[in-house]
Amino acid sequence: MPPAVKVAAQAVPKAAKTQAQKALDKLGLRRDIDLALHLPLRYEDETRITRLADARDGEMVQIEGLITNSEISFGPRRQLRVTLNDGTDTCTLRFLNFYPSHQKTLSVGARVRARGELRGGFVSREMVHPSFKLAGGDLPGALTPVYSTVAGLPQAYLRKAVLGGVARADLNETIPAAHLRNNLPQPMWSLREALQFLHNPTPDVALGASGRAAPTAHSPLGGQRSTRSDERGGFLADFQDHSHPAWQRLKAEELLAQQLSQLEARRVRAAMRAPPLQSSALQNTHASLHDQLLERLPFRLTDAQQRVGAEIAADLHKNVPMHRLLQGDVGSGKTVVAALAAARCMDAGWQCALMAPTEILAEQHFRKLITWLEPLGIKTAWLTGSQKAKERREALAMIASGEAGLVVGTHAVIQDKVMFKNLALAIIDEQHRFGVAQRLALRYKMTSDGDEPHLLMMTATPIPRTLAMSYYADLDVSTIDELPPGRTAIVTKVVNDSRRDEVIERIRSQIAEGRQVYWVCPLIEESEVLDLTNATETHEALSAALPGALVGLLHSRMPVAEKKAVMGLFNDGVMAVLVSTTVIEVGVDVPNASLMVIEHAERFGLSQLHQLRGRVGRGAAASACVLLYSTGDATRLGDTAKARLKAMLETNDGFEIARRDLEIRGPGEFLGARQSGAPLLRFADLALDAAWLAWARALAPVMLDQHAALAERHVLRWLGTKGEYLKA
Ligand code: ADP
Ligand code: MG
Repeated sequence: MPPAVKVAAQAVPKAAKTQAQKALDKLGLRRDIDLALHLPLRYEDETRITRLADARDGEMVQIEGLITNSEISFGPRRQLRVTLNDGTDTCTLRFLNFYPSHQKTLSVGARVRARGELRGGFVSREMVHPSFKLAGGDLPGALTPVYSTVAGLPQAYLRKAVLGGVARADLNETIPAAHLRNNLPQPMWSLREALQFLHNPTPDVALGASGRAAPTAHSPLGGQRSTRSDERGGFLADFQDHSHPAWQRLKAEELLAQQLSQLEARRVRAAMRAPPLQSSALQNTHASLHDQLLERLPFRLTDAQQRVGAEIAADLHKNVPMHRLLQGDVGSGKTVVAALAAARCMDAGWQCALMAPTEILAEQHFRKLITWLEPLGIKTAWLTGSQKAKERREALAMIASGEAGLVVGTHAVIQDKVMFKNLALAIIDEQHRFGVAQRLALRYKMTSDGDEPHLLMMTATPIPRTLAMSYYADLDVSTIDELPPGRTAIVTKVVNDSRRDEVIERIRSQIAEGRQVYWVCPLIEESEVLDLTNATETHEALSAALPGALVGLLHSRMPVAEKKAVMGLFNDGVMAVLVSTTVIEVGVDVPNASLMVIEHAERFGLSQLHQLRGRVGRGAAASACVLLYSTGDATRLGDTAKARLKAMLETNDGFEIARRDLEIRGPGEFLGARQSGAPLLRFADLALDAAWLAWARALAPVMLDQHAALAERHVLRWLGTKGEYLKA
């Protein structure tokens, strides 16, 4: 964030205007309604001036006085230090980043208004990066909203633009009046009322002198307290926890838009056609590919695999495109379920595509699938960005002619040049690692008559079921909730980095038993700030410590061919230890690996740790996961890091991990982290606003059925063209 420099609210020069216009575009604020819905991040209280003698340390205050000194000091860092004297005391204004304009405004003799957090400095009190302007003019009568902005878009300009948007936008109700009253403890504020209030709070609401207020009870449907006439202090708390009635109205609006778009997408999809995938082999004498594959598998499907297989088959039989998420813990055996679905698709005479987020993962799938399907006479095409032109041409020809029944690859699968003969089933592994646009592209790859393919998405980072069901109204969810038999529980240990030698000793004994080991480091770039151990250094250290063993290195910056060579050696058991960055995070399957060491485990997210741990314990050998943590300079680990490591110690269950992750991070961030690109919810919080979600979920079908025009206006107002994205 650039320093908060306050620019006096004056006419913006012409040249700046076009720049500001561009900045507005960048923020996605194109329509009047977009501006109106760009709500303040926070408010500043510029309604009064506090005397320095009366101000307490740590308080946000506005002060006014004469500049008595101004100098640039060159200590460890160049900075601008200015002394302000208000007649009761002095205060240093300190700027680490500053422009000549700062110096000019803050020159000796100028009378200045500054606003910031007052701190007890070394010599005198100080404010670091206060906002400021020349004194003069009336104090504003009400709180000043502060908006999130980008470079080239001053607050004053943005504020004006937003107020213009509020004045011009169509803010007429889209929610039928009865639904704003019925079953609610008290009528909701109107949208217009709510927006006008949040952008332009009335003079009677101000921030408390201390910034603290009595705690507010959380009641999603509440708004019991009439905050309009609340005492000072109430508004800040209400604003921060979004319990103010104006906020409540916006959350309800936003969730309704989300539910409407999901429901609409579901209905649109229901009206679309996909090829019903019925096995034509049934009429023939020979067994279907599906049954042959099942027979040839070296294991029996678990009950859970059979159940989800049947759920998928039932969808594929329909002439409506499937839109199903298959979730199952790491190692639960999703790949074979995907292969069986692909076999059903090919049995019906159609092509199937499988797309994975990384080349390593895609190749793992490719290898596994060809060992299963090639003996049955299936041709599989391989597509990736790194392949040679000739290879690629051949693959494209096989896909276009229909010779290839199955296509496996990375993003290359959705490129324009890829023409399928008759794609009917698209499978996306680790779907959350793909952008929404990419998922859409695969859906639009359908061949004839504008039909859609069936879509099966797979993930090892499960969404808690209740969340999935309520939030993603347009998604069916299948869950594998059982691991294949014969897996030994992975023993997890949390170990201080100072005991690294013991860990290396352990590696030595694993290698002696013919086992293999993963060692994961967080980053490959040398980062001064984070001071992370470089994977390269670790690789060297381990190679030296383990003479006679082949220690390999894998990181994301390596050329693909090199990555493949390393992975190949590890797959074949030639390489004993694989040091890597998180490129192995998903999908790698080497059953002989029995020890996973994760360095700087405190820096990883919970689901990431769990995914990594899932790389071991795939065979019959007892397996372990060592979470090395380092407290660095800090004396102790942060609370969330601790909570994550504790969860890892306490459970091996991916669903429990997901639940804890949700708890630690909150659903907004939890879902946000899964979704690349499009922000999900701006105002509502799924954990706190479950009641509003239920309200929106119940209202959405009523709106679509009885108030279609209003529903359309509502979605357009809130999602604009982004609505399309939410449907992916
Ligand atoms: P994930 O769900 O993490 O993608 P995989 O599909 O990679 O898991 O399966 C993990 C391992 O378990 C693979 O080696 C796979 O062949 C094996 N596997 C899958 N299903 C079964 C089963 N029912 N019984 C035994 N092993 C199985
Ligand atoms: Mg997998």
